[in-house]
Formats: sequence, structure tokens, C-alpha cells
Amino acid sequence: MSKIYMNGKLVEKADAVISVYDHGFLYGDGIFEGIRIYNSVVFKLHEHVVRLYESAKSIDLTIPLSIDEMCKAVKDTVQANAKKDGYIRLIVSRGVGNLGLDPRKTTNPQIIIIVDDISIYPEEMYEKGMEIITAATIRNIPNALNPRIKSLNYLNNILAKLEANRAGVPEAIMLNHLGEVAECTADNIFLVKNGVLKTPAPQCGILEGITRNTVMDLARAEKITVQEVVITRHDVFIADECFLTGTAAEVISVVKCDGRKIGDGVPGEMTKLLRARFRKFVGI
Ligand code: PMP
Repeated sequence: MSKIYMNGKLVEKADAVISVYDHGFLYGDGIFEGIRIYNSVVFKLHEHVVRLYESAKSIDLTIPLSIDEMCKAVKDTVQANAKKDGYIRLIVSRGVGNLGLDPRKTTNPQIIIIVDDISIYPEEMYEKGMEIITAATIRNIPNALNPRIKSLNYLNNILAKLEANRAGVPEAIMLNHLGEVAECTADNIFLVKNGVLKTPAPQCGILEGITRNTVMDLARAEKITVQEVVITRHDVFIADECFLTGTAAEVISVVKCDGRKIGDGVPGEMTKLLRARFRKFVGI
């Protein structure tokens, strides 16, 4: 039976319940992280917890634990579940309030840590690459709800995911309000053109992925030029290679976008190299 951390206590899954008056439920008022466990090690835990605290800061939510205490709570929960490989969902909601949206009416923020199995894309998709589309739904406008905040309100991404589902593909590119490529519904995007690795800058309205940052470091270690730049759909269509990064996806090749074959229509050499380096780095 899985043990779930709720506000300092480990409880059984069946007992891990939240009030319907919690503002995380009523308004998506809260933040979260998705983290991997590889070989009993929590991958980039500190980076994920720092991002969580930055999201919290941005929405003016005070988490009643220090960063070190939060890291320890995550590790303890992983240990209590004896999970060697898996996925962690770390959630902080604004807590119970009344039916109005005023956060001042809320009491204790709820801190929840779920440790579960991970579901990743089928192996064949990593070998052959995936097809994606561009969604009509644009990414949240930064001055309205900045995508750098990993908030509990994922409706923007879900609307784009519905479009991907309808098109029969696993992911969709979301453009920003300027029509530039931002990211996919749950992954960051990279292009390779003439040996240079390119990805949208955080200012393009993306979540600054932990996997993205790791892959950029690994690329630089290979002496590959990495650029955080403005990318358009045209750049995607004429790229030599394209791949996505994310906690669940790791590094996965994209071979077709909006019906256009990318490069040779098979996973490219740099994509394969960076996927191999990433897997080595996480120890798989
Ligand atoms: N963009 C979005 C919108 C995401 O939800 C995620 C996380 N699944 C990512 C990018 C990738 O971030 P990370 O590498 O930290 O998982």
C-alpha cells in the first residue's frame, strides 16, 4: 500500500483526502512539481524544490517548511514507499478557505507528496520518434499567468492536449501570444539546425524545465553550441532534428510536425547522443 505524505504525516492512500473547500480544488490555487526517482535517487530534487518555492513566491504562498525540510520530506516519503524507480508528485495548495476566492480566507496550505509508478511513452516511440501538431490554443500570456509558475491550474495545457488527442498524436506545440514556439503541453522543445542546438528562452513564455536545463548542460559538455532563442513554426519545419524533454518523457525525438517530415524523418544523431548522455547521467 502506498503511503502518502500529508502535512507531516504518512497516511494510507484511501485516507489521503482533501477538503472540497481547498482552494487548490476550487480555483487551482496552488503549485506542484513532478519528479523522477531513478535507482532510488530523487533526480534533481533540490532544483525541483527550488522551482516549487519560486512558484510559491510568485503566487504569494508561504510554504511552512524550509527548502531543506521539504527535500527531507520528499526523501523520507520515497523511502517509506521503498520505491526504486518511480514518480513523485509534490503539491502545495493554498488550503481550506470559503467559497470566495480571497486567499486571505484560507488557512493552512496543504503539503502533499505522492510516490507512484511512472508511465512513459512506449519504447517504439523513442526508437522511431513521434509526430506532433501545433495547437490552436496558445500558451498562457506571461503577464496574465506566467508559464514559469507551475500552478495547479493546467487547463491551458489540457486544452492543447485535447487538440493533440483529437489529432491522434501524443504532444502538441503551444505558441506564445506572439505566435512564437513556446513549448509542448508537458514538455520543452529543442531543435537542431546546422549542428547548433536551439530552444525557446524562458522569456518566450515557457516552464523552465529541469530536464531542459540538464540537457543543455550535457550538450555544452559535448561542446555543442546551445542557443536560447526565438523559434517559429518555420524553424521547426526546416530543422534537421527536433526533440522534446520532460520529467516523464526524458528526451524523445520528434520526426513529424503538422504533416511535415523533420529532417530525414527519423531520430537524428544529436538527439540520439543527448538521449544516451541523459540516460547515462540518470543512471539507466
Ligand atoms: N513544460 C510544461 C508545461 C510542463 O508541465 C513540464 C513538466 N512536465 C515541462 C515543460 C518539462 O519540465 P521538467 O523537465 O521540469 O519536467
